[in-house]
Amino acid sequence: MASMYAVYHGPDGLRAIAAETAAKAALLRDWLVDAGAEVVHEAFFDTIRVRVPGRAAEYAAQAHDGYGILLHVADADTVGISVDESTTVGELHQVAMVFNGKQERAFAVMGGRNALPDGLLRQDEYLTHPVFHAHRSETAMMRYLKSLADRDYALDRGMIPLGSCTMKLNAATEMAAITWPEFAGIHPFAPASDVQGYLELVDQLEGWLAEVTGYDAVSLQPNAGSQGELAGLLAIRGYHHANGDANRTVCLIPSSAHGTNAASAVLAGMKVVVVATDELGNVDLGDLRAKIAQHDDELAALMITYPSTHGVYEQDVVEITTAVHEAGGQVYVDGANLNALLGYARFGDLGGDVSHLNLHKTFAIPHGGGGPGIGPVAAKAHLAPFLPSHPLAQRAEHAGGFVFEGGPISGAPYGSAGVLPISWAYVRMMGADGLRRATAAAVLSANYIAARLGEHYPVLYTGENGRVAHECILDLRPLKEATGISVDDVAKRLIDFGFHAPTMSFPVAGTLMVEPTESEDIGEIERFIEAMIMIKAEADAVAAGRWDVADNPLVNAPHTAVSLIAGEWTHPYTREEAAYPVHSLVAGKYWPPVRRIDQAYGDRNLVCACPPVEAFA
Ligand SMILES: *Cc1c(COP(=O)(O)O)cnc(C)c1O
Repeated sequence: MASMYAVYHGPDGLRAIAAETAAKAALLRDWLVDAGAEVVHEAFFDTIRVRVPGRAAEYAAQAHDGYGILLHVADADTVGISVDESTTVGELHQVAMVFNGKQERAFAVMGGRNALPDGLLRQDEYLTHPVFHAHRSETAMMRYLKSLADRDYALDRGMIPLGSCTMKLNAATEMAAITWPEFAGIHPFAPASDVQGYLELVDQLEGWLAEVTGYDAVSLQPNAGSQGELAGLLAIRGYHHANGDANRTVCLIPSSAHGTNAASAVLAGMKVVVVATDELGNVDLGDLRAKIAQHDDELAALMITYPSTHGVYEQDVVEITTAVHEAGGQVYVDGANLNALLGYARFGDLGGDVSHLNLHKTFAIPHGGGGPGIGPVAAKAHLAPFLPSHPLAQRAEHAGGFVFEGGPISGAPYGSAGVLPISWAYVRMMGADGLRRATAAAVLSANYIAARLGEHYPVLYTGENGRVAHECILDLRPLKEATGISVDDVAKRLIDFGFHAPTMSFPVAGTLMVEPTESEDIGEIERFIEAMIMIKAEADAVAAGRWDVADNPLVNAPHTAVSLIAGEWTHPYTREEAAYPVHSLVAGKYWPPVRRIDQAYGDRNLVCACPPVEAFA
């Protein structure tokens, strides 16, 4: 949204918006000075501060109650006022009246007015790329956005079977409410009287999440799963501190863990000690006991993901959590994989002391493109006093509390509150029975894929009953050995078949981790299975010598339209085999916009499309 704002307005538009904003702030300053108010700064852009000794709260209340305007109470003696391009002159007038300004303001001449020091005004050119100059009408902007969307592979085209990152349907009814001004137009620090609806929603959702996880307290403040991890680990540290156990700083993390786990532990000031996993993908109990004994009274916590990132329910989870507790440690259960448990089992009952959930995975908030997410942290009663708080939280019980090393975990008391209605609606509409059935469908679908594809690609890890949880890891290393076709080739070839690739080489290199979720129906799942079986047959054809190892539909995938029609076709397979490996694609095909670009080269080397540094000399 922010980048498209810049694309639409361009440098001239942004400058005009800024000039208008600065002019409004300057006009307000003039009116306030006129009314005898003491404006603190001479130079400012969009925000002014007014000194009102001892009466800041009183002025804020007058503005709020009289006009519905929120002034910022900076301290007991100062209020802050910000304006932007949406502020009207009428509103400026209302603010002036709060400070006993004139009743009558027929109209105002703002043009050119500002309180910006000349020396700070920007003189150079910015946003010079053509994209910031090309789309100036709503029609043009709409078409630009559509052209970007057409290059994208999203859930509106087909399955995105990314294991460990649940990409499920974000239903229209769940999404609708976040556009309502009652949710979208609220400032995070609005007074409690203005946000009763939000608080009720927060209350209910916290209660539901506590109920389904078996914990006693929930904080919705963290903006991501990783931030929830940090909050949970800080709670553990706070608890140890309060018990006089400041030396407990060692965090045990199995080698299969999501990368965020170790990063969060380091951020929380802990020392990471890795615990091995056995050949079945489970935590190695012997190694766990050894590490516990070795670190003894330094043990702070074990971070464990359940079901594991290997996609299996570890049979020994209770034995594991008990061992940690007996040694005085706390158990952090990474709850991002709740899609495999919801309605059937609860982290609290498995021995967890604290967990985060990913509302932007299990609870239907869209999360492609980086957020906003919500990673609530949920804990047993003994850790509840150490969960995030915020001095400006609208509910008293969230406003105080214990703040361990550095205060609130995010800038707003209820984090990404604007997208909470999505998860609220998901739970409310699914109900207890619906959530249970969703879990059942997700786990059944993953097992169906594992069973159907198992004879073509070995399933790397299963539980003792031979089943997986909500995702399965297909081992492509044997295929590579037998045919030379790599996991990259298979992932790219899936694009030709009209699929987003599954998670590749995580948590095990050379594998694909597939998670269908409950959102995919049997038709789409069969389409995926068919594609994977055909790709295996193509790889076998390479091994059998039908196609050259260096020139076949797999190593050349994905095929763009240009690559198929430009110039002479010299490959040993046909264009139809390249673009339409299954007939159903003829009716509607996703055309990739680009071919392979040097694999990981671009990730490891900064490729800059901007002018070279010398150009600025
Ligand atoms: C996604 C995920 C996380 C991190 O969540 P973010 O919201 O991306 O920070 C942590 N652990 C597991 C197992 C995950 O799948």
